[in-house]
Amino acid sequence: MKNFKEIKKHGMHLRIFNIIMFFMALAITVAMFVAMQRTTALYDETSSITQDVVELRENAYNLQVASDYLTEQIRCFALTGEEKYMENYFTEAFETRRRDIALEAIEKEVGDTAAFKSLNEAMVGSIELMDTEYYAARLIISAYGINEAHFPDFPGDVELTVHDMSMTNEEKISRAQELLFNEAYRSKKESIAASMRKCLTELTDELGVEQQELSAQLKEQVFLEHVLTVLLIVIMLGIIITTTIMVINPLMKFVELIRREKALPIKGAYEVRFLAKNYNLIYYTNLKNREKLEYEASHDKMTGLYNRRGYDFLIENIDVETSALMIVDLDRFKQINDKNGHDIGDKVLIRVAEALSKSFMHHGLICRLGGDEFVVIFTHVDRASSRVRIEKKIKKINEKLEKAIKDVPGITVSVGVAYGTAGMDTDTLFKEADTALYDVKDGGRNNVAFYN
Ligand code: GH3
Ligand code: MG
Repeated sequence: MKNFKEIKKHGMHLRIFNIIMFFMALAITVAMFVAMQRTTALYDETSSITQDVVELRENAYNLQVASDYLTEQIRCFALTGEEKYMENYFTEAFETRRRDIALEAIEKEVGDTAAFKSLNEAMVGSIELMDTEYYAARLIISAYGINEAHFPDFPGDVELTVHDMSMTNEEKISRAQELLFNEAYRSKKESIAASMRKCLTELTDELGVEQQELSAQLKEQVFLEHVLTVLLIVIMLGIIITTTIMVINPLMKFVELIRREKALPIKGAYEVRFLAKNYNLIYYTNLKNREKLEYEASHDKMTGLYNRRGYDFLIENIDVETSALMIVDLDRFKQINDKNGHDIGDKVLIRVAEALSKSFMHHGLICRLGGDEFVVIFTHVDRASSRVRIEKKIKKINEKLEKAIKDVPGITVSVGVAYGTAGMDTDTLFKEADTALYDVKDGGRNNVAFYN
């Protein structure tokens, strides 16, 4: 909570923000990578199980087909006595060996399961059945008088019983057919087929359960990946929004304010605030310096009054028709300088400036144009009342200045005043005031005159 308040007050450090975002994104990316690896593994496992199921079905089918094929061939042989069926039988049993190959393949996959054991038993049953088949074959060979050398794979230990040897050929054929079609043979075959089916169902079920478990895990995994993706998107949006609020928006505002020469608001990230604070410091210092320079450029250093430049600016901006201009010139000031020195002369000038300020500060703008010449500009002036007032004030000033104080000798001033009229320019106004001033100088000084 304290940290949050600190951040709110001073702004978040971009460096810290950067580090936090980097590690968060890194952690989620790593998690995502691990999740993806796991998904791939699960997918591989699932598809391998699917493959196993397909292979298992195929092998079981082959096993059944091969077994049925043997039965079919031996039965055809018994029914027709044609050697090709017996040849087919041996080819399947000893060369093609589809049963054995299928069984081997199944054993490789699920060799140690109970289901496989029953399948193996079925295979043993199938091999046992072959004894009956060989015996029936021997009966047929004997009945048809077929040369045994044609079947080199025929097991040598299959001998007919004395009783069967003594049967007629028809009896032998009929006995052989009876052996291959009787109930015992059929039920044996059926039991082999049933145990094969049972085994296949068990194995398929087992794999099915495994497959279901895997697909459930895969679902969870995909969900996790979605969550991680959403998190990553949230982080990305967070970074964009935060940098927009903390950096981009304040910087854009700063650019706009700097163009308009304004101070900057303190907001955004810590570093951005740091920039703004320092810019403001330089900005305000610069502003003060500029104000100082402007003041110095428009004011007289010695008296603090407006100088010639200040006067020029002021006179340009007055409404001449409602204004009056008053020129004040020190009487025989040169003599004071000559007699007392320049420094004393300066003190006299300062004293006069102070006297003028005191009397006219609230009514006019007081300037020192240079040397011993001062000007007071009256704006929005009322002719009748101002004239009397000015006369009174100048009289009072002269009475005061006449008297020397300490090391500052007494002085008097001559004053000329002119009033503006409609359409008059400022130069004319000044000239008229100057004319009035010279009238005073000519008339003996220490007085005020108004231009008629
Ligand atoms: P008048 O009554 O006719 O005006 O006589 P004046 O002696 O005052 O003559 P004028 O106004 O022409 O003389 C102005 C003098 O002011 C000339 C110069 O020596 C003096 N002066 C000008 N600037 C300064 C200044 O800054 N300091 C001092 N001490 N004297 C200055
Ligand atoms: Mg003078």
